[in-house]
Parts: sequence; structure tokens; C-alpha cells
Amino acid sequence: MKKNESVLLSITGITSEGNGVGRAEGQAVFVPYTAIGDEIRAKIVKVQKGYCYGIVEEVLTPSPDRRENDCPAFFRCGGCALRHITYESELAVKEGIVYENLRRIGGVETPRLPILPSPLENRYRNKGIYPVVRDEAGAIHVGFYAKRSHRVIDQGDCLLQPACYGKFVRILKEFLQDYGISVYDEVSHTGQVRGLFLRMGYRTGEVMVCVISTQDKLPHREELVKRLLAVEPGICTVVLNVNPERTNVALGKRNVVLYGEGVITDILCGRRFEISPLSFYQVNSPATEQLYQLAAEYAGLQEGDTLLDLYCGIGTIGITMAGEDTRLIGVEVVPQAVENARRNASLNGLKRAEFYCDTAEGIVGRLEQQGLRPDVVVLDPPRKGCEASAIESVCRMGPKRVVYISCNSATLARDCRVFAEKGYGVRKARPVDLFPRTGHVECVALLTRDSVEK
Ligand code: SAH
Repeated sequence: MKKNESVLLSITGITSEGNGVGRAEGQAVFVPYTAIGDEIRAKIVKVQKGYCYGIVEEVLTPSPDRRENDCPAFFRCGGCALRHITYESELAVKEGIVYENLRRIGGVETPRLPILPSPLENRYRNKGIYPVVRDEAGAIHVGFYAKRSHRVIDQGDCLLQPACYGKFVRILKEFLQDYGISVYDEVSHTGQVRGLFLRMGYRTGEVMVCVISTQDKLPHREELVKRLLAVEPGICTVVLNVNPERTNVALGKRNVVLYGEGVITDILCGRRFEISPLSFYQVNSPATEQLYQLAAEYAGLQEGDTLLDLYCGIGTIGITMAGEDTRLIGVEVVPQAVENARRNASLNGLKRAEFYCDTAEGIVGRLEQQGLRPDVVVLDPPRKGCEASAIESVCRMGPKRVVYISCNSATLARDCRVFAEKGYGVRKARPVDLFPRTGHVECVALLTRDSVEK
């Protein structure tokens, strides 16, 4: 196939990036914004070894899975990948991707359980990060990155975010314009304001507004706080996050509190959690409650059990599943999150909880050598998954059950192979949708020792 060539395609699948896939001349052709069942004519735009990318020239027969796109920025924005198909078909696609990865990468064959849908399809996110840029003409843009680029789409109101976030975006933009405050330029590494980071407690409605800046002083900060509070009294803290580095990472390591206490609280599965700006907190609270309930069911904690919660963040998983008599040990690498976790355990009356600030791979070996033998281990690593050494130490501890929560079924599947070598097999796995309209999907897996449960 050649670039600019037109081909007829039947779309038979959708990838985790949200591209439809069809075959022509024995090769896979990936075409964005298509649905399974579409008959299309596509123009080839990029030829790779063994596969190509195309764009839709004409939809000859539309799939019944199609729905009307409801966001004006959809085709430019890098946020959503699946606004053009029904939620039912999105769920089917995601379920398929998870089980296919488990089978193909992990060699895992478990019965297929239906994906748990998200209770909300829109406005489910509690967190938003909006880059701020100034264009050549001097206009300030606050919004979202366009697909695969650092161009900013000026889209204050996003259908995945709470409606009030659009107001905060507008206020920051006007504030920067009114006071002539400089905007960071990533090429020359000059200027001050880099972005806006927002977080809201789903149950409490408490809002944190965080301005990301290269310096630890913001001119006219009182005026910004005043303007924000005037539109939303639910704002309980305003923070300046200081990120002076030449980096793609959005947040810096230091925070300066401009208003309030520098933290918000939220309620999840009936428990109370304090959350600092630098701490991880699942973005879709109602779906997270379902995820944690499922994880608790898989963990099957019994009275007096010891639970090791690796990659614990602010302690949410361990704290929501623990009873008063559970011995809970959490491990997390971000110091502010560990601080939150310790406080959250005491806020929820857990007296047998301890948290270590370390990497999972750095500490589990030591805990194992010191004789720690947890009944249940929960793992909830970032997208890159676990280090094999961490998994090996977990297996040497000999837990009755391991509950692996993953936002990337490819690395989950890879890690299941390491577990399998050490005698732990997957008993069941269930996809959970935490991220409607995007290509991302969560999965919970229960692993137990082969010798015990065959
Ligand atoms: N279980 C928590 C957090 C999951 S996100 C929840 O459900 O909210 C993954 C967490 O792992 C993040 O808090 C991140 O800071 C932490 N992390 C990343 N790499 C780590 C590592 N190598 N060791 C321990 N924690 C790590």
C-alpha cells in the first residue's frame, strides 16, 4: 500500500488507542473515529512495516454502534478517543482488549466476566490539568493538549470534567491577562505560569485550585483568590505548585498554600480521606467505589488478617477494605501521599496501620526477610506495572490471596507471567471502566497459589 492511496475497509476491531482497524491487501489499517461494523473508504496517510494508518474519506455504510459526537473539540483534543460510539460498544471493546491482553501476553485463560460500567459517562472526573500557553500573537490559551502535540486547545468546559472547572479556567485566563503575568514558554524556558490543576471531592464538593508556576511567588495572588471564591464558595484551598524544572512533568515537588489548608477531603466507600495536591487520587469516584468493592470481595479479608497494600497512594484501598482489627501495612513512594495515608488511617479509626515511604521493589524484599507474612497483598501499580523483583518477594511471603489492580492490562498480563513462574495463578479477572470515552480501562485480578486452589 502507498501513501495517499484509497482503500475499501470493513472495520472489525478497535485498539486501545481508540483507532478502528480493518484489513486491506493483507495488512492492518488503523483508522481513527471509526466503529466496528463500518464500511468505509479510507485514505492511507502513513505506511509502516506491516501496517498503515488511514483517515476516513467516506463512510459507505455506518455501523449501528455510531453515535453523534457531542463535543466540538473531539477531533482535535487528545483527551477522548471514543466519543463517536455508544457506551455499550465502548464497554464491549474494552472488555475484549483486557481479556485479549491477558490471554495473548499473559497466557491467562479465565472465564470472561462482564466489564463493570462507570455509573457516570460524562463529568465523571474529579481532577483536571490545564496547560497555559501564550501564542505568537500574544493571546493566552488555557485548555487541553491537542492529540500528540503541545498545542493547547482553548476548551474551558470539558464534558469529562465538573461544569464549574470551566469557570476557574476563565478566571485564571482573565487574571493573567489583567495583570500581565508572564506565561511559561517550554522552548525558551522562560515565563512563570505553566498550568492549572483542579481537584474536587466527589461527595464533599470540596475544591482545590492549584496554579502551577516556575516561581514560589505569584503577583496579586489575593486578587486571584478573591475572584475564585466569588464564583465558587466551595473552594476550600488555593495552592501554588512550584515547578521550576525544564520538564514535561506537570507538577513540581513543592507547594505554597495561598488560601485554606492546602488539602481537600473526600468520602469514598463511606470513609474519609485527606488528599494533598501531590498525592494520587482515583479520578472517577463512583466507579472507584465499585472497583474497591470488587477488590475487597476478591481480598476476602478475615478477622485479624494482615494486609499489605503496595502502591497505596493515600491509603484508600487498604483503608476501605480493612476492619478495625486488620493489620494494615501500606507502601507508597510519594511522601505527601504517605503523610495523607497515615492521617487517613487514624481519621477512620484504624489502630493497626503503618505506612512506609519507599518504592515497592525497594522494600518488599526487606519486609519479607524481616518475616512479614501477610494474608493478603494488594498491588495497584502505575501503568508500567511492577518490577519482577517486587513480585518475587511478594510470592516468597506466601500470601493466601493477591489482588492486582491495574490500569494497563498489557503490563498486568506481563506481570501475571512472573507470578505464574512463582506458583501464583490468576483465578479470576474483571475489567472495570473508570475512564469512559477514553481508551483506558482498569482491571482487577485475583491470584492464589496453584498448589492450594487447583
Ligand atoms: N492505590 C492507590 C494509588 C494507586 S496509583 C489508589 O487506589 O488511590 C499508583 C501509586 O503508586 C501512586 O500513588 C504512585 O505515587 C505510587 N508509586 C509509583 N511508583 C511506585 C513504586 N515504585 N513503589 C511504590 N509506589 C509507587
